[in-house]
Amino acid sequence: MSGPLDPLIKAIARLPGLGPRSARRIAIHLLTKPEPSLTALIDALQNAKEQIINCSTCGNLDTLDPCRICQDDTRVQNKLCVVANVSDLWAVERTRAFKGQYHILGGVLSALDGIGPDDLTLGLLLERVQSGAYTEVILALNATVDGQSTAHYISDKIMDLVALAGDQDSGEDAITITRLAHGVPVGGELDYLDDGTITTALKSRSSV
Ligand SMILES: [Zn+2]
Repeated sequence: MSGPLDPLIKAIARLPGLGPRSARRIAIHLLTKPEPSLTALIDALQNAKEQIINCSTCGNLDTLDPCRICQDDTRVQNKLCVVANVSDLWAVERTRAFKGQYHILGGVLSALDGIGPDDLTLGLLLERVQSGAYTEVILALNATVDGQSTAHYISDKIMDLVALAGDQDSGEDAITITRLAHGVPVGGELDYLDDGTITTALKSRSSV
């Protein structure tokens, strides 16, 4: 298919989770609806482009830098939750179960996709950890091979920093590295889970 709508459809199809078929449906919807949905979308995109910036501390998207989370002094200051991307930060925030600080990596290490340490904000993360501001670093990364190898990599790097600092000032070994528990999802039935999940859940069991 080629026509005047092609550039619009191609641009929509590049968005995550959308293929050419849904891109065509969205383009037609935006252009044929009686209400001005395309104009509203253009305005929203324009506003976002002009006003939304990356927080230079944590990498969150906000209209302020530092972002509202980094500026909020009612939050716990010494716990740092490391996530792969902004949507993961928002997922953790939605739970209201964590009231500390965040660090967004900008992805995870992936040999397959050619993403190495320099493509992520690892240097900035290590600087933050090295500042001594945090007593716990929570690695809230996906339970995928790439997510877990990234967690191991970060954990090793932080342990190296801690060892170096320990050599210099025989101080308290002040930092704990944790990761999210893996295992039985809330509402999950054992009989339906795969062997790997049950094995991991057994290994991560906790006292009741
Ligand atoms: Zn921030």
